[in-house]
Amino acid sequence: MKMQHSYGLYLHAKGQGQNEGARSSALDLVMRNSRERFDSHAPCKLICAMLLEEITMPAFSQGLATTRTVLIPFGSVEEHGGHLPLGTDTIHAYELGKQVAGIHPIFVAPPVWYGLCRSTNLHPGTIGISGDTLKRLALDIVSGFYHQGCRNFVFLSGHAGGTHMAFLTDAGEQVLSRFPDSRVAVVSVLDVQSQMPGGIIETPGDSHAGEVETSLMLYLRNHLVDGTSPEEYPVFPKYILVRDKLRYWPGGVWGNPQKASSSKGATIMEKEALVLASLVKRLEELQVVDDSPL
Ligand SMILES: [Zn+2]
Repeated sequence: MKMQHSYGLYLHAKGQGQNEGARSSALDLVMRNSRERFDSHAPCKLICAMLLEEITMPAFSQGLATTRTVLIPFGSVEEHGGHLPLGTDTIHAYELGKQVAGIHPIFVAPPVWYGLCRSTNLHPGTIGISGDTLKRLALDIVSGFYHQGCRNFVFLSGHAGGTHMAFLTDAGEQVLSRFPDSRVAVVSVLDVQSQMPGGIIETPGDSHAGEVETSLMLYLRNHLVDGTSPEEYPVFPKYILVRDKLRYWPGGVWGNPQKASSSKGATIMEKEALVLASLVKRLEELQVVDDSPL
């Protein structure tokens, strides 16, 4: 019953202005793949059909008749207090991308595990990359998808650092000028959470390894959560860059992990996916204006 309902979602969400016959056969193939996967791997649902690393060459080609949108999850290898895994941001972004694909048909790219980590680069376990590398990587990945037929690109970042997001935004701007028929959205999970209904997150300003991320990991990767960490709100000197960031942020938490629960994580995932699916639809409906110089 569940799969039949999911078929309905796909059929309802077919792309616009494309050949009906091609779409039908594309859907057939995607559904067949999904059904086979669903039968042989119980936890794998319909969304598997659109995960790049799991689909075949024909399934990718046929999937293009259904969607030209790809969501690229960006994350980080970064400390998340004493209790959450270093891959928290990437796990969050990737799982959220999968949830969105279950609501609205999109390709989900394999995640980019590394990001630019400025405030935590001295904390044990943080492995950052430069903004230049991040930007080049984003551009190269988009170029690859563009040449394969994708036109709409969603950079979803589980890591919301300001400098990291600035480089992703800069990459997105370059995509717009390089590919005049492309559409780009650059959004962090904090942006997504700011659009969720109120009353779910109790801790004001909770942003790193606190109530939200601990809840998410309790829900998504319970076995990787090692107890909890103290509530913490670091204060860095305004406008002054400091070398010894550990001195200002010893615990590596920004928020309150004590308020976390698995059920809250489930609610956050569900609400985030709805917000993001709505953003994807708005992006796909955006009229592309070619403003490149004549
Ligand atoms: Zn995080």
